[in-house]
Amino acid sequence: MKKLISIILVITLAFSSVALIASAEEVKTECGGNCDICPAIVVPGIGQSNVWALDENGDYLLDADGDRISCFPAVFDVTSIVMKVLAPALLTLVMQKDIGLSSALCDVVRDAFAVNACDEKGKNTGNIEVEKYLYSVAECSEYEKDQIYDNVPLQDYAEQVGEDHLYYFAYNSFGNNSDIVDELYDYIQMVKKETGHDKVNIVPISMGGSVANGLFEYYPEVKDDIVKVVYIVPALNGSTIVGDLYTKNFTFFDTEFLYNGFLETLMDEEEGRMIEVIARILPDEVLESALQSVAGCLVDEVAANITMLWGLCPKEYYPEASAALLADKPEIKKQTDKFYQAQLNSDKNIQALVDNGVEVFNIVDYNVPLYQIGNSWNNDNADGVIHLSSTSMGAKSALYGETLGADYKQANTSKNCSDPTHNHVDEDKIVDASTGLLPDTTFYFKGQNHEQTARNDIIISLATRILATDDIKDVYSTPDYPQFNGNRDTRALKNKYIPTAKAIDTTSLSPEVAEELATAIEEAEIYVNGTVTYSGQHLDVEKKLIDAMVKAGAWTVEEEEEAMPIFSTISLLLYNNFGTDGYSEIVADFYIGFVNFIVSDVVKPLLGAL
Ligand SMILES: [Zn+2]
Ligand SMILES: [Zn+2]
Repeated sequence: MKKLISIILVITLAFSSVALIASAEEVKTECGGNCDICPAIVVPGIGQSNVWALDENGDYLLDADGDRISCFPAVFDVTSIVMKVLAPALLTLVMQKDIGLSSALCDVVRDAFAVNACDEKGKNTGNIEVEKYLYSVAECSEYEKDQIYDNVPLQDYAEQVGEDHLYYFAYNSFGNNSDIVDELYDYIQMVKKETGHDKVNIVPISMGGSVANGLFEYYPEVKDDIVKVVYIVPALNGSTIVGDLYTKNFTFFDTEFLYNGFLETLMDEEEGRMIEVIARILPDEVLESALQSVAGCLVDEVAANITMLWGLCPKEYYPEASAALLADKPEIKKQTDKFYQAQLNSDKNIQALVDNGVEVFNIVDYNVPLYQIGNSWNNDNADGVIHLSSTSMGAKSALYGETLGADYKQANTSKNCSDPTHNHVDEDKIVDASTGLLPDTTFYFKGQNHEQTARNDIIISLATRILATDDIKDVYSTPDYPQFNGNRDTRALKNKYIPTAKAIDTTSLSPEVAEELATAIEEAEIYVNGTVTYSGQHLDVEKKLIDAMVKAGAWTVEEEEEAMPIFSTISLLLYNNFGTDGYSEIVADFYIGFVNFIVSDVVKPLLGAL
């Protein structure tokens, strides 16, 4: 018996040492897992992963230019759209009644989103390929590095820590929520193995915050795998835009808003007004019914089956939306109900991380109104795409354009503020950070648009500093990164204005002009190398530098020709005189008015005179 045990022991030892050697060989990092900085895994936002359309043989579908076709957000084939819509559109126009137009438009929606369609189990059925990077950025091709850095410019981080300590978890934004959470958990285990580190840092961005909700709910043990979580504009309680989508609470169903306001919030006013003028070729009821039917198809047939999109539905909207849309889709509802719990528990699960010693940071944007697509657009402060209480883990704020009031006193409702004498209200009194879950580690950027977050070099350098060093513990660690900061985009200053200004030959300039130029250059350089800004300061710095260059005769400001706002004038004239009527209705009204005029002002007096 003893002999048997010792044989087993010997065999076990032999195998485990083989296993040790094998796993030692798998470690790919230079540090072998023995440096102070954990590898970082980026969990990107919606549309920040490439998903390509394939043909029936599994080859990439190519467009007319020979480029691969992206499935995000949909694949629009203009020829087939025209073929489908032309005849019903003409008939509808001639008859001024919806003759097949709505149903043709629904077909177009179905076709365009076919690549992103999911079955009754919430699994994608499209012929697609998700471009994944199952290795560190060090092993990525130049093309792959371009894709990654273009979405999240962490080149400085990679330079400081090494590309073998940076990973990008790509996923299908319209894929299966539960599968993607599982993949992320496995990815974290893979990164640990490959790098030799026993822990990682994770960076959930935007929709990535929703994926992280699932991770912390379904895999609570993952807290032992993580040193830092650096959330960037995370959709922790979805976006009210998606809540309005799932409850079909659209602003453009109101024709008054459709003809005067809606398009102007989404595009250039003159372009929007042109579309308004064209849209009047249809009577307003026909237009309204066409829009309702397209939106209905999009929600009922496409969005309802996409569990990743359900991950962006705020918890306040989910019960109503799921009851209406998923009553006959039990398999999908089972999955979205499970995620709903993850969303309800989001704060609790983040608190569990904090209590386990995980350092959780949050970087959010505010004071940019939401796109006015859903009627809830002005229910909370926002960053253009996500409402602020979602990204900020519940912070109280004033609506866009308003304040909490001059006498507002911070509420201190979070137990994570380390010192009740902290001031967590911004100087404009818009946000009370003491009411969010993590007052001491949440950084706010005023006026920063969600979609331009990666272009704010302060946000990127803050994330880099948190990930690459242990300098930053909270918003008080350094005056370089205060709790409240501003939006900016310094690309023009760095790449165009400063280099041009520095190249100016100043020998022939008057001392005053040369002095003004030198000062403007110096101020601009200090500004771009600094990390504190007020909202939009980059534009003031640009202007000062341009003015100095103009005085030096080295720059001419091109006068932008003010185009005549023709369509704006016409559209407003139509709206003010005829409301939301289509042209046929306007003409009919005009005709009736004309007949009335003839009868009452011409015929009747004539008859009276006779
Ligand atoms: Zn290392
Ligand atoms: Zn505090």
